[in-house]
Parts: sequence; structure tokens; C-alpha cells
Amino acid sequence: MVKQIINEPGRTFQEYSLLTGLTKLGCEIPAISLETKLTDKLKLKTPTLSAAMSSVTGYDMALELSKEGGMGILPAALPIDRQEKIIRDIKTYEMNFVEDPVIANENDSVESVIELIERHGYSKIPVTDRNNLLLGVFDQQEYWNSEVSSDERVTQAMTPFKRESQDPIAYCNNPNISVDEAKAMIKEKDANYLVVLDEQDRLVKLAFEKDIETLQVGAAIRTHKGWEKRVEKCVAAGVDLIVVDSSDAYSEFASNVLDRYKDMKTGVPICVGNVITYNGALYLMKHGADIIKTGMSSGSICSTQREKATGRAPFTALLEANRAREDYLKEHNRLVRIISDGGISSPADMIIALTVADAIMMGGYFNHFYEAAGEKLDKDGKETKNENKMVEVVTYGEGSKRAQNLERYGHITRKTFFAEGEEGTVLYKGRLKPNFNVDMTKIKAALVNSGSMNLNEFRENAVIELNSPTTSQIVSNTHSMTVKK
Ligand code: IMP
Repeated sequence: MVKQIINEPGRTFQEYSLLTGLTKLGCEIPAISLETKLTDKLKLKTPTLSAAMSSVTGYDMALELSKEGGMGILPAALPIDRQEKIIRDIKTYEMNFVEDPVIANENDSVESVIELIERHGYSKIPVTDRNNLLLGVFDQQEYWNSEVSSDERVTQAMTPFKRESQDPIAYCNNPNISVDEAKAMIKEKDANYLVVLDEQDRLVKLAFEKDIETLQVGAAIRTHKGWEKRVEKCVAAGVDLIVVDSSDAYSEFASNVLDRYKDMKTGVPICVGNVITYNGALYLMKHGADIIKTGMSSGSICSTQREKATGRAPFTALLEANRAREDYLKEHNRLVRIISDGGISSPADMIIALTVADAIMMGGYFNHFYEAAGEKLDKDGKETKNENKMVEVVTYGEGSKRAQNLERYGHITRKTFFAEGEEGTVLYKGRLKPNFNVDMTKIKAALVNSGSMNLNEFRENAVIELNSPTTSQIVSNTHSMTVKK
């Protein structure tokens, strides 16, 4: 006889709506923080990690996501040397000037500048006259607080350039300024960017503070033999987080790695996953996991449920792990953070997941972007490097035949008997930055609706409600209309 039958169906993110809470004055999108803690020391400015998948996270994804405040997790299928080199490159990444900044003309409307921002993702746009003389800087966040309407000229809404030493725009008239000098000036002026002009105040380039901070990156390991060497190399290269990548981490393979890892005293936190049950989560916490990751069978490329009927609806898996961490916290006074992984593909999913999880990991979501590691295809299905011709991106799961072959040729033979992931394509959506920034703004907007200034408050304040399948048809999308394309 079966040990237990749970007849309450598992739940996924799309089934819930967030209710509104009192939004106080000052609780507005620009004031909202999406910062999260993965451990007491390890923070992310945006609570997102890109999945340890060969078609998703390589150097480009890890770099760009980290610049946006998230973190890429380099797949364990990468050869150790490659993983190590990417970590080193990211940790030693230096600020670069934006040599060819996107600019607005003095006659442009606010509306058209906002379109530019939506296309390119830069939130600060220098405004110049037709001789390229700097007139001011348009800042989207400041615009939100202004009364200027969007059909007015951008010059009405920008911070004007005054050519004074106390100018609100940090600038210098030295086109040959070095990276180090730019860094020092940004610090000295307590600014977050620097406009570099020539002697006649013509715009040359920009430098941003965000690029100066050390970027963060994580690396996945497996429980198979040889993982210690990978850990040593990654730690020496400066990795910020080690992630034990296992589709089922409620196992002695995983706890043995944890026990041994703790003895290594690397000083780098370890995240272990994935688990889907209360017992599984508690087991890993008891073995010292700093962070646990939840989800199985919900990944966009995942065929696990179909192949072996194993897994759990992702929100239920997260709720069970959360129950375990609360009990563990009460008993051991140690808070273990949770990352929800798999089946989160839209800002709406992210918002519901973040009512419980400290951070979210996504594969399919990031796979659509230019920075994804998968090949980009043109309309004929041929690989292309020309950004204008990209229409699809190749995706495949780490359990797919393709990823398994990668590992086989790369370094190890994986002991697996059948594929648990698919290979295919997703639509190409352009660069990460503009898309991601819009989606993070949607999350901030949801926090505002719930009356929360940050994710801690959100987890405390959020009230969500389960929708019936009939309700879902009404509240989840438009209805009774043809949407204008
Ligand atoms: P997604 O965000 O829905 O695409 O889910 C991404 C997650 O799917 C990853 O972080 C892994 O946990 C999981 N995953 C990756 N590859 C496979 C696979 O081949 N089979 C099943 N799950 C996978």
C-alpha cells in the first residue's frame, strides 16, 4: 500500500492573485528596493539567478545579469577550466566607458525618449543639441516624479547642464580621462555616472558607477566524484556562491557533499538543490546548507514528470520548503534562504514566487535574450551572429541528450540512462537589459500595490488568493475583445 496519498492538488504561481494592501505616501516605484539576501553577507540587488544550464548561462549572461544586480550560475557541465576562467573574468571585470551612448536631441519629445529607453534599457539619456553640445540628462526615475507631460519636449523634463562645479550632473572636460580617473571622480562627486565632454562641452562618452562595483557570479557543481577540485578552482577564482546542482538533492550524495564542503571551510556559501518536500528541505538544512533550492519537473525544458512521474508543482514545493525553514529557524535559530527554481517565466510568476522565496532562478526566461549561451537562429533556422536577423534561440535542459553529450566530451561521463530534458528553441526577445528592467519595474509596481517598500516587507505584507479555473480565465488576461497588435 502506498505510504501517503495527498489529494490536495499541487499549486503553481499562475493560480494566484496578489491582493492590494494600503499604499502609503512615498511608496512609489523609484523608492522600492528589490535587494535580497542569500546569506547575511551575500546580497543581490535584484532577486534573480540565471539557471545553471548550458543553453542559458555563459560569460555573457553572467556578466550582464550581474550588472543588473542578479547572478548567473555557471553550469557544472562546463569544463572546470572554462568555469574558472569565466569567474576570473567576471570578478576582474573593469568598468568600461560607454563610448557610443544613446542620446536624445533637444527637439525630441519625452515620449520618444522613453521609447529609446525601452528599446535600449539605459535609464539616463544625455540630451544634446545638433552640434552635440550637452544640454542636460534625462533620467527616467526623476521623470516619474515630475509634472511634465509626455508630449512635451525632453528639454522640459531633463536635468539641465549648468557648467558649474556644483552641477547636479557629474562631468569632466577631458576626453582622455582614464578608467581609474573616472572611477575616482565618480566617487569624489558621490555620483553614479560621469559625463565625459571635450573642451567645447561636446558629449564624448559616459561612465557608470554600477560597472565599477565588483560583479557577482556563482558556479554549479555536481555530487559526482571530482567536485572538490572544481570547488577549489572556483573558490580560488573568486566565486561568490557554490550551487550543488542535482535534480533530486534529498539524498546522501548531496548531504555527503555538504558535510565535506563544510570541512573545506572555503568561506563561500553553498546552495543545495533541488528539493520539493518538507523532509527534503529539513534534511539539507540539518546538514548545513546555507541556501536551499526548490522545484522538480516544472522547468520549461523538463520532461521528468512525463518520463518518470516524479516532481511537484513549484509553488507547493516552495511552500513546503518554507514550512521546513520556519520550523528549523525556531529550533536552531538559523535562517536558511530559499531559491525557487523552475516554472517561473513571467513577472507575474516572479511576483507570486517572491511572496515566499528569497530569490528566483530562471532558465527559460533568460534563454530568450541575446546574452543566453544558446545559438541564435535566423528565420530559416540557420545560426546567425547578426543581431538584426535573430528570431529564435536554442534551448536545452541539462538532462537533455545534448547537454549530456557536452559533459561526456568535456570532462566526465554522466551516469544517466535516459534524457530528462528537451532540446528546442524559444523566440528571440532582444537584449537582456531593457526587457529585464521593465520586468523588475513590474515587480516593484506589485510591491507598491501591496504597500511594501522592499522584499522583506513584501513577504510579510503579501496576501495572495487562489483562483478557481473559471476565475483564472477572467482575471489572468483580457477577454471578450480582440487585442490590437
Ligand atoms: P525554467 O526557468 O522553467 O526554464 O526552469 C529552469 C530549471 O529547470 C533549471 O534551473 C533546472 O532546475 C531545471 N532543469 C534544467 N535542465 C533540466 C532538464 O534537462 N530536465 C529537467 N529539469 C531541468
